[in-house]
Amino acid sequence: MSDLSDRLERVRGRITDAAREAGRDTTGLTTIVVTKFQPASLVRELRALGVRDLGESRHQDARVKSAELADLDLVWHFVGQLQSKKARQVQAYCRVIHSVDRDSLIGALSAESGAREDDDGADAATEVFLQLDLDRSAGAADGRGGASIADVERMTELISSAPGVRLLGVMAVAPVDEEPRAAFSRLRSASERMVAVAPDATSISAGMSGDFREAILEGATHLRIGTAITGNRTAAR
Ligand SMILES: *Cc1c(COP(=O)(O)O)cnc(C)c1O
Repeated sequence: MSDLSDRLERVRGRITDAAREAGRDTTGLTTIVVTKFQPASLVRELRALGVRDLGESRHQDARVKSAELADLDLVWHFVGQLQSKKARQVQAYCRVIHSVDRDSLIGALSAESGAREDDDGADAATEVFLQLDLDRSAGAADGRGGASIADVERMTELISSAPGVRLLGVMAVAPVDEEPRAAFSRLRSASERMVAVAPDATSISAGMSGDFREAILEGATHLRIGTAITGNRTAAR
């Protein structure tokens, strides 16, 4: 086995173990392999190993990579911070955007989705997660984005009423200075508040290389795993 398939198998095994520990079925879990800073060739290897969901956080790199890999059957997820003016470009190649955290971005995504729907007549809705800031010290600018948990109901209503956008659920990154399970427990509560307003928005995007077990124990449905599978980022930046 190559190092890559070895690491992928090991992570898959740990996901199965965590699901069992949580009393959950792995069919409810989507693993997104985050390939930021990794070359397109690595994505090809991943596809050959059965991976279909890929995550990227930088539009400039992701656009080039997705174009280079257009021959493959892939689902691209955007997990990084997104400028409203780049929203329509990202929608062109990403089915799912995990980082929706403000009103202006919802507006930008909504308008463009409507236009895409007209193009092919199919249901081309962009699927989105509402990214929440789990940091307890309110206003702490960690640069990772995220709406305040206090805004869950209001933003759920806003996204639900936006044409061409389909709300999947909540997303968050665990703060660095806290036990991840405690933080993900707050995310689970926020998810319950969202579902009370939007009954279909039951997904929870949480869990990275260092904390996916804790995320699974707190109900995560979409895991965003990078380095535990891809190895260390190759590019020097
Ligand atoms: C990079 C990134 C990940 C993956 O991180 P790893 O620690 O490499 O697993 C997940 N989510 C987001 C938002 C990221 O930016």
